[in-house]
Amino acid sequence: MFELQGVTAGYGETVVLRHVSLSVPPGSVVALLGPNGAGKTTLLRVASGLLRPRSGRVRLDGEDVTGRPIHRLANAGICHVPEGRGIFPSLTVRENLVMQAPPGREEAAIERAGAAFPVLTDRLAQPAGTLSGGQQQMLALARTYVAEPKVVFLDEVSMGLAPRVVDTIFEFLDRLRAEGTSLLVVEQYITRALAIADYVYLLQRGRVVFAGEPAEVDGERVFSEYLGMDTSVGSGRRGVMR
Ligand code: ATP
Repeated sequence: MFELQGVTAGYGETVVLRHVSLSVPPGSVVALLGPNGAGKTTLLRVASGLLRPRSGRVRLDGEDVTGRPIHRLANAGICHVPEGRGIFPSLTVRENLVMQAPPGREEAAIERAGAAFPVLTDRLAQPAGTLSGGQQQMLALARTYVAEPKVVFLDEVSMGLAPRVVDTIFEFLDRLRAEGTSLLVVEQYITRALAIADYVYLLQRGRVVFAGEPAEVDGERVFSEYLGMDTSVGSGRRGVMR
């Protein structure tokens, strides 16, 4: 179980998150929704150890991991896929994968990545920066996968990608879930995120304003009242603050 308890966090003088509590139970998918600037990325940064909260606790399997550096959280099974991919463009696909693999499991990692994204198998010797945008995102996700994490935080991983690639990415998220990995997903394709989620949190101006199961989400109300957005979701249109 991954948990944030009463987290307040921000940058310099700016407070972005206010007393946010959230849980990601083992093997579940939690969707984190909210308009632009609500603090979703900031929450993922706190969760993954990139940003230290001002107050509140971060717990993994009951253990207080608040303020632990990101590499130690990664060793404990936490993986963050940031907005903008986070791959090493000058290294080859193989090198990008191998560096994430547990020691002694490098070849298994290559096989595992190829099983999830067959297109990467043909491109192992290619510098990652020469892949297409969609392939780079697949590589970023494959790097997470080969690290064999317990909990993965995904920040808008389908942003700007072709619909076919978005389908591949959602199939991959299903695979991760089926293998028992917990996911905390920030996603612009709201209907698709709700379709795979077990639980939903809605963040507005740094506070949780709704928490419940996807079936409890009254689409019209949530979208218009909290997200200030058109209900033709799934179009990739992003929310705006009113
Ligand atoms: P979006 O959907 O636009 O990515 P978000 O919900 O992920 O939004 P955050 O990126 O967490 O929101 O930003 C929340 C607030 O924090 C915004 O007002 C933003 O301007 C501010 N902010 C984000 N990063 C920084 C930073 N490094 N320094 C100062 N302020 C920041």
